[in-house]
Amino acid sequence: MGALFSAYHLWYTVWHETGTEKIDCTCHIRRGGRCVAAFERAMKKIALFAFAGIVLLLAGCAPAAQSSETFAMDTVISQTVYARDNSILIQNYDTIRALEDSMSKTLEGSDVFRLNHAGGQDVVFSSAQTAQALTGCLELARQTGGAFNPALGGVVDAWGFGTENASVPEQSQLERLLAEAEYTQVRIDGDAVNAGKAQIDLGGAAKGYALDALKITMDEAGVENALVAVGGSVYARGGKPDGSWKVGVRDPLGSTADFLAILELADSCVSTSGSYERGFTEGGVYYHHIIDPQTGYPVQNGLISVSVVDESGLKTDVYSTALFVMGLEQGLEFANSNSIDALFITEDKKIYMTDGFQYEFELINKDYQIEG
Ligand code: ADP
Ligand code: MG
Repeated sequence: MGALFSAYHLWYTVWHETGTEKIDCTCHIRRGGRCVAAFERAMKKIALFAFAGIVLLLAGCAPAAQSSETFAMDTVISQTVYARDNSILIQNYDTIRALEDSMSKTLEGSDVFRLNHAGGQDVVFSSAQTAQALTGCLELARQTGGAFNPALGGVVDAWGFGTENASVPEQSQLERLLAEAEYTQVRIDGDAVNAGKAQIDLGGAAKGYALDALKITMDEAGVENALVAVGGSVYARGGKPDGSWKVGVRDPLGSTADFLAILELADSCVSTSGSYERGFTEGGVYYHHIIDPQTGYPVQNGLISVSVVDESGLKTDVYSTALFVMGLEQGLEFANSNSIDALFITEDKKIYMTDGFQYEFELINKDYQIEG
């Protein structure tokens, strides 16, 4: 903005003060104390060249697509941001890293790590954002009847998804951990947090919350158009200068590069929870990372992915996990009655949409069928 203003100011000064008859040579340009017509003509030419130069300069300063692909929160961060330089990419990345540093379950010293190792004592969070994200998660846990349970950390750890120790836990261990996974015992009182025996896991919400934090960073930076993906959570800010953003919905049965469909979005977030995202095979059975809080086992209900669109990144992330847990029938009913825009995909390749899911949607993989 500063550069734009200086360029405009320079143009205004050169053009207006040389391009009019009432030029005041004494104020700006003095040639031996005289102001002659030839000099004025020369100055007009200079002004024209300067104007053309500045137009070019302005064109050079116009926001252009800046892109990067980096890694944080255990996933790929891909950004395309329309900006004058790439500094916003770094700012966005730093914002995500800072959130990871406070919300990680495994990083010693993070807010969540300290809470999970406090033995039932109060912990003072170092980041107000961790408290805000946890507060949002607890509200949504209540709303979804615990289908999204941010206190499932102990159970998730017992499965060891994404680690070398991934294996099916003992039933007795699961039962003990499930009894401790009680999100209603978490208390947030000012900046003091107490989780009792529960182990907090914000893995199903942090990526979506990060999108909400990026919204603030980009508001401050004056960015109008951007598409940022933090793993399966995507924020489409503005539209592309030539239309809406096109966001690929991954084919849950294909590889990472296979799209099932293309969604057109503007100023909204979309998160997808899929059984393909993280898991392991033991004894010929595939165990994935979305846990049924009733049983402590990976959800097996015929769904393979759920996508949710909303203005709030946190909500999209939490609801996509919660609806996956609820299953097709209950999930569709819950989403419709709570005005959640969701898309469900079943293992028999059927696609179901809520009533409010009115986004431009292009089916790429014709093996799938859109149901009523
Ligand atoms: P991803 O993190 O791969 O985008 P999700 O948003 O669906 O996928 O979140 C899954 C993660 O959330 C798991 O890896 C685990 O850490 C946590 N989790 C698993 N089951 C639940 C659940 N029922 N409620 C809340 N969090 C869960
Ligand atoms: Mg989620």
